[in-house]
Amino acid sequence: MATACIGIGSNLGDRQAYCMDAIERLRAAGCVILKISSFIETEPWGLTDQPPFLNGAVLVETVLPPHDLLKLLLSVESSLGRIRTKPWGPRCIDLDILLYDSTVVESSELTIPHPLLHTRAFALEPLAEIVPDAVHPLLNKTIRELFREVHQ
Ligand code: AMP
Repeated sequence: MATACIGIGSNLGDRQAYCMDAIERLRAAGCVILKISSFIETEPWGLTDQPPFLNGAVLVETVLPPHDLLKLLLSVESSLGRIRTKPWGPRCIDLDILLYDSTVVESSELTIPHPLLHTRAFALEPLAEIVPDAVHPLLNKTIRELFREVHQ
């Protein structure tokens, strides 16, 4: 069993319902949901001319290795009707593996910790609520410290 932190975001349709539905689909696929953060409204990042996001994070226990967990996230996104338009574009659901134990993965389709995690307050804030003392395995700083750094 591993514990993974999954970032959840939505900026189309009933954002709250999409996020909750995604969590239920992860649960139905066998992930044990250990913690659910608050969901916060955040301004779009990268491509700013789009509706605001709702962002949150969950801590899950899973038997799936990292690449299989990614496949599950992509299948949940598709099952909720996500259509990929452009990078950083609007989406009804976005699921990212932010942390996976203290594992580091660097492959063409998967990077863990998520490469932009330490730069994004919208990912760090919900994470700091559920796993403040988790350590970023490459930066050797806690999530609380990383959030403080982007938040000042
Ligand atoms: P996005 O458009 O943000 O949903 O990006 C999805 C793609 O990013 C996936 O198809 C993955 O191959 C890739 N990716 C790389 N690292 C991660 C990660 N830690 N979590 C989720 N997707 C990732």
